[in-house]
Amino acid sequence: MNYCEACGMPMSKPEDYAQGDTSSQFCLYCVNADGSVKTAAEIFEGGVNFFMQHVSDDRTMAEKVTRKNMNQQSYWQGKNEPILQGEEATDEEFAEVMKKMG
Ligand SMILES: [Zn+2]
Repeated sequence: MNYCEACGMPMSKPEDYAQGDTSSQFCLYCVNADGSVKTAAEIFEGGVNFFMQHVSDDRTMAEKVTRKNMNQQSYWQGKNEPILQGEEATDEEFAEVMKKMG
């Protein structure tokens, strides 16, 4: 299984990949129509919305979990994105959320 390097989404089918290209390191949600990777702020907001739809409408927790998730992805290492600085979910909170998302 491959995982998106920006958001960690598992990519199993060609449709899961950016532009349907299975050699891409990114998922369809993290790339613009022209193939460029979205900004950290855009991907962060997408993660927050996903969390709020699937787990809980607690926006503060959504931001903390999304920040922790993105900071674990290789694409963001060393980029010092302002949106990724700040409070993160604890390992316990993160594990709890992963359980809920199945
Ligand atoms: Zn992605």
